[in-house]
Amino acid sequence: MAWYYGTFACGHEGRTNIIGPIKDREWKAERAFAKTCSDCYKKLSEELREQENKEAAERAKEMNLPELAGTEKQVAWANTIRQKLIEAFDDTIEKMNDEDSYKARLIKRRIGVSIDEVIKIREFIIRNRSQAKYYIDNRYNTIEEYIEAELQKISAVIDEEDRLVEEAKAENTVYPENRITDAVVEIIVQTDKISIVFEKNEEFRSIVKSLGYKWDDRWVKKITETTGTAEERAAELGNKLLNAGFPICIFDENIRERAVNGTYKPECKRWIYHRKDTNYLAINWTDRSDIYEKARSLPGSKWDNPSVLVRVEHFEEIEDFASLYGFKFTKAAQNLIEQQKERLEKAVVVKPTKSKEHDRKDGLSDILQSSDDVLPDLIEED
Ligand SMILES: [Zn+2]
Repeated sequence: MAWYYGTFACGHEGRTNIIGPIKDREWKAERAFAKTCSDCYKKLSEELREQENKEAAERAKEMNLPELAGTEKQVAWANTIRQKLIEAFDDTIEKMNDEDSYKARLIKRRIGVSIDEVIKIREFIIRNRSQAKYYIDNRYNTIEEYIEAELQKISAVIDEEDRLVEEAKAENTVYPENRITDAVVEIIVQTDKISIVFEKNEEFRSIVKSLGYKWDDRWVKKITETTGTAEERAAELGNKLLNAGFPICIFDENIRERAVNGTYKPECKRWIYHRKDTNYLAINWTDRSDIYEKARSLPGSKWDNPSVLVRVEHFEEIEDFASLYGFKFTKAAQNLIEQQKERLEKAVVVKPTKSKEHDRKDGLSDILQSSDDVLPDLIEED
């Protein structure tokens, strides 16, 4: 062992301790002095680490990660470890996502969990692991070790969530007296739609179909101007299902009671729409009543699937028809009629003078005036 003196690459003078065979020492010393001195190296790595911590803290803020608890230094460090851990998770998830890749299969076999579980564990760590100490203590863990360690805790958390959901459902479920099944129909009410979660069942299917529900991953009815509110429709659906012997779960107490008591405004199935970009009103009904002939008796009517169309000029007849057969007008249809009324108010009205020609006495004129009832066809053509 021997001390060599010289100047380091950073410009600082100092010494370096060289061991080993004498013949190599000169060369080793040369190599040592080609680097920065140990003080400079320490300073540089501290700066790099600080920079890394600062960036991690910024990223954490961007990603809305929970703030870590611990001393200032612990937090700074743990932020960096957490950031790298999240990147490792994202990388793993991305690889698992590509089901065809060899690497994906390898990861699945090695880790033994599904991609959904990995995503849940990532979320679990981000949301629940807010002690800086956690990241520092586990800094040498591989991603597999993190997953293995958290898997049990996360399944306990998921079980607890499931239990709470089941309890909440039980509280909000009612069973009809003469129920035909113990399986519960869950009715989910949102402002713009109602969705139903239930197992496959023919009787259930025919009820929801008759109420205008469509299959789209689950049974869904969109709430529009012509359906009435979501509350009304959910109460109606619940009532129909209860009466057919199905237990139902509705989280809104008021709607649930209305379903039990059958207090809802029935859905209007007869509507008059404005046929878009035309001057037509569209008469539409979905209650399968025999309304077709009556609608076709309106002046100038024509059938254009799924509605009977009548020009807005005949709004008076259409309004009479509507009140007679219980049709409602959509806002757009009302607007179209209003526009037509305005047009009529502004219209130029004239009092036409009869042309002298009409007074001319001839054979045909005599016949027309004297025998209206004899020649009805001729008069209609005028
Ligand atoms: Zn130096």
